[in-house]
Amino acid sequence: MELVDLLAVTRVRTLTPRMRRVSFAAPAGFETWPDQQLKLCFPRPGQPVPRLPVADGDDMRWYREFLAIPEDERPWMRSFTVRAHDPARAELDIDFVLHGTAGPAARWARTAEPGEVLGRYGPSTVYRQPLPTAASYVFAGDETALPAMGSLLESLPAGVSVQAFVEVHDPAEEQRLDSPAEVSLTWLHRSRGESLVPAVRAAELPAAAHAWLAGEAGAVRSLRRHLVDDRGMAKRAIDFTGYWRASLTQDDAPTDEDLADANERVALARQD
Ligand SMILES: Cc1cc2nc3c(=O)[nH]c(=O)nc-3n(C[C@H](O)[C@H](O)[C@H](O)COP(=O)(O)OP(=O)(O)OC[C@H]3O[C@@H](n4cnc5c(N)ncnc54)[C@H](O)[C@@H]3O)c2cc1C
Repeated sequence: MELVDLLAVTRVRTLTPRMRRVSFAAPAGFETWPDQQLKLCFPRPGQPVPRLPVADGDDMRWYREFLAIPEDERPWMRSFTVRAHDPARAELDIDFVLHGTAGPAARWARTAEPGEVLGRYGPSTVYRQPLPTAASYVFAGDETALPAMGSLLESLPAGVSVQAFVEVHDPAEEQRLDSPAEVSLTWLHRSRGESLVPAVRAAELPAAAHAWLAGEAGAVRSLRRHLVDDRGMAKRAIDFTGYWRASLTQDDAPTDEDLADANERVALARQD
């Protein structure tokens, strides 16, 4: 499979008032795994197809050439998760949170139709990060983390337990999440003033769990600090990713805190 290519929309479904599932024709030879991230490239206004640099297998050169495209023609690049792959239909599904009209990805997803085309970079095995084996897990995230969380829950074996916390706008955003594991799922509704950090702080959690955290970067940071500082969890027992940043787009430069998080992730990965 080419690492960089175009992706054509085949179907679009409304999952909840604020979540749309877009199916794309899967590339030939597509390999799938849980929590599978990829970059999507969204066309600029007036472009039927996003402009992509030529792929020659060299990631760094590809990215340099991407940045060399004049800004008003360069696609917006955003991170997403493959929610599911259906080899029989040769389709892959990506679930988009419709968080507003400020972001090009959410704006595109609101009106996406079969036949429309995005660019993709990935999925790359470089970002394949299997969950470590554990008897119990704690998952916490917002709606952007639901696709990853859903695919992780489906991949877990029977006999393990998961305590999951998901923050969404309101009860209409709840989704069914299947798993062979024993899952205790707490939905938190912003419409009722509920949120992730106080809910996890107040919860009784299993002693030797592995934690997986994703969602708004500030919330993820607070959750991780709480698990490490207040609960004494080992840093290595926590996978964490800030998926989006309040008031900042994915084009905006990383903050000092973002860079510190990224450095920690690299340092922890090196210890494995
Ligand atoms: C590894 C990874 C996997 C991800 N998987 C998914 C996925 O499967 N589905 C999904 O929907 N998202 C996913 N995300 C999050 C997604 O990339 C971001 O929400 C991204 O900012 C959306 O781009 P945009 O163009 O809509 O908004 P941007 O142009 O990046 O931002 C515009 C404005 O919208 C705000 N904003 C961005 N996202 C949100 C949000 N969710 N809620 C409220 N305000 C927001 C920003 O603060 C900014 O003010 C993932 C992120 C990562 C890093």
